[in-house]
Amino acid sequence: MNLMFLGPPGAGKGTQAVRLAEQFNIPHISTGDMLRQEIKNGTELGIKAKSYISEGKLVPDDVIIGMIKERIAKPDASKGFILDGFPRTREQAQVLEGLTRLDAVINIDSRDEQIIKRICGRRVCSECGAVYQESQLEDKNSCPKCQGRVYIREDDNEETIRKRLSEYKKKTMPLIDFYTERGILHNIPDNGTIDDITQNILAVLHTIYDSY
Ligand code: AMP
Repeated sequence: MNLMFLGPPGAGKGTQAVRLAEQFNIPHISTGDMLRQEIKNGTELGIKAKSYISEGKLVPDDVIIGMIKERIAKPDASKGFILDGFPRTREQAQVLEGLTRLDAVINIDSRDEQIIKRICGRRVCSECGAVYQESQLEDKNSCPKCQGRVYIREDDNEETIRKRLSEYKKKTMPLIDFYTERGILHNIPDNGTIDDITQNILAVLHTIYDSY
């Protein structure tokens, strides 16, 4: 099962990808999470990526492509994977096509106002990476799962979100056509609860895989 989530920042790609990865026992591969880890570890790649991320720009293709090639070649990805946040450009999509086959692309279709509100309320655990809405947290500073410190991503402020949305529209949205042409794009409207959206995605997957 090789799946990919497409959609603007803050559409809930990560939230849904984590759920499906748990259900199907395949890795959730988020290039954003990988880059944040590189930054945390102070690696050369992390240092290169940091300024792009904090300015709301896409990290150059060559950096991302090298990183993802290594990741999907790991043994845990041999039975399938869920890509979240990759590919984000036509060039990345073309490279991916040369590496492996995607069964389905799930495109979460959200409105700008919905996204801005959601990203401004987003909180992330510095230890386990769990993602919350501020309104869900009783203790605003602590993760309910692991008690790790909860923080606001540096790029989750309104000014940077607007830049990220504009990058998305210019560079990533063309992938909707790219995957529609290949007959593997499935649109999921960003309506209802997180559970409703998971159910809608599972219904689509049911039509692709006879049994799971
Ligand atoms: P995300 O966590 O997916 O919202 O990604 C956070 C930031 O990481 C993005 O705004 C980009 O700067 C960078 N990034 C993540 N994935 C990619 C990618 N596939 N191509 C280029 N930049 C990326």
